[in-house]
Amino acid sequence: PSFLVAVSLVTSLISIVGQLRPWPPTLPQGLLALDIAGEVHLDPDATDRFSTDFGCLARAAPAAVLCPSSPDDIAALVRFSYSSPQPFSIAARGHGHSVRGQALAPGGVVVDMASLGHGRADRISVSFDNAPLVWYVDAGGEQLWIDVLHETLKHGLAPRSWTDYLYLTVGGTLSNAGVSGQAFRHGPQISNVYELDVITGKGEMITCSHENKSDLFYGVLGGLGQFGIITRARIALEPAPQRVRWVRLIYTHFVSFSRDQELLISMMDQGFDYVEGSLLMDHTLITNWRSSFFSETASEKIRGLAAEFGAIYCLEGAVYYHELATASRVDQKLHLLLQRLSFVPGFAFANDVSYVGFLDRVHDGEVKLRSMGLWEVPHPWLNIFVPKSRIQDFEVGVFKGILMPNNSMGPVLIYPMIKNKWHDEMSAVTPDEEVFYSIGLLRSAITDDWQDLDNQNDDILGFCHREGIQFKQYLPQYASQRDWKNHFGRKWDTFVEMKRRYDPRALLSPGQRIFTSSL
Ligand code: FAD
Repeated sequence: PSFLVAVSLVTSLISIVGQLRPWPPTLPQGLLALDIAGEVHLDPDATDRFSTDFGCLARAAPAAVLCPSSPDDIAALVRFSYSSPQPFSIAARGHGHSVRGQALAPGGVVVDMASLGHGRADRISVSFDNAPLVWYVDAGGEQLWIDVLHETLKHGLAPRSWTDYLYLTVGGTLSNAGVSGQAFRHGPQISNVYELDVITGKGEMITCSHENKSDLFYGVLGGLGQFGIITRARIALEPAPQRVRWVRLIYTHFVSFSRDQELLISMMDQGFDYVEGSLLMDHTLITNWRSSFFSETASEKIRGLAAEFGAIYCLEGAVYYHELATASRVDQKLHLLLQRLSFVPGFAFANDVSYVGFLDRVHDGEVKLRSMGLWEVPHPWLNIFVPKSRIQDFEVGVFKGILMPNNSMGPVLIYPMIKNKWHDEMSAVTPDEEVFYSIGLLRSAITDDWQDLDNQNDDILGFCHREGIQFKQYLPQYASQRDWKNHFGRKWDTFVEMKRRYDPRALLSPGQRIFTSSL
């Protein structure tokens, strides 16, 4: 055995030294003696690749990248750092679709979660409990939601709650919330999880759930990667529909648009299965990459209306159905629903698409933008939750004010959600009101104007502060602990206590910039 250990050490040394880079001063050399040394990459190709993210706004190189072949490898790395006199930070990197460097680890180690097995079917497995009958999928934290969808559909099942875009990892979205047009009904993705496997900041591997280690379970859900690395999530499933009637309705007045959205979410399963909405300005119709929905003639018609009113609103709904045979019943349901809504007459547009086509709708836009070289550009996004009681003020000040004379450069999403679908013990925070709106300004800076767009974000936040609008940032970005404390509000003390319990040396997800030293 000692011969084998020696051989493994020499192999690791050759592999690391072969990368021809001086040993980084921020990492203890003892790392070389670990079994995982061969999975640690120091070469600039690896570290450059993990120095930025989808946002293209933050840049910071890690000292090394770990490409784990199992969760044990990640645990070994975290244990080593935790017990070292020279601890280093560690960031799990899902698909790197953060926009402000949240998955970076300056001078530390980025864990390339994809190495655990993107597309590895054995890291996604569907099962059920008998009494009561509950279907679920166990998915690796590194898995992309698109792969979870395809795997569960083989069993005629699918998760209930989604994000608009499916090339995000299970661990990445559960560290935030995971919201889309189904959240009003099923809650965000974090409300649809039964169990998690987590590696804490001490390197312990813990299985947690509502019944077992519930503090860790709820802490990790929306916990911005601060308490542990998710290596498996057990996610609720439902029978998958086959088709979707997908509608877009145009409004010239925000009051009727938001009133109809609120009516629809109050109807639960009597209404749409999915409710979203967006602001349309003349240019957003042209630059909107999120889906091709409207025909050329419809686009012309809508553009005319947008030019007349400056800003108009588009309510988006979907009704799922299972069999083609039930299509006429869906038509009937849709007809009755539309009768209750106050969109501009003649401005209701419908498509009928497959369930997968509907869920994966944003991907077409990605392909299009990539082909034009417009995907890997700066993305100064702003996502906030605004309480229902102030949404009209927000509309006047932001949609009709700050955004109006300027180019918002990308989709502006607006849709309501319901607070009681968010478990209060979870780390994620929402405004203190039963109904609140998710507002997403998904900007792409296609010239060098990202700073202007970011200044506009500051203007929007400044407006909310001045007007006393009690918003919460989603995918939050703050630089000072005082701001983080405000963000978490009454949950802050618990958040700090959890950090002390599960990551006291503040190793994990340093890119969130919440804790900068041991507790
Ligand atoms: P990363 O950017 O890799 O990581 C995000 C954070 O989570 C980092 O702090 C990281 O350290 C941590 N982390 C990553 N993996 C793990 C893990 N396994 N365990 C613990 N911590 C981990 N969000 C929505 O809610 N709804 C949407 O509709 C939506 N649409 C989007 C569309 C696009 C085009 C993009 C770019 C983003 C969208 N997002 C949406 C935001 C997205 O959910 C978050 O940015 C999410 O964090 C991205 O997942 P990721 O796998 O790329 O995570």
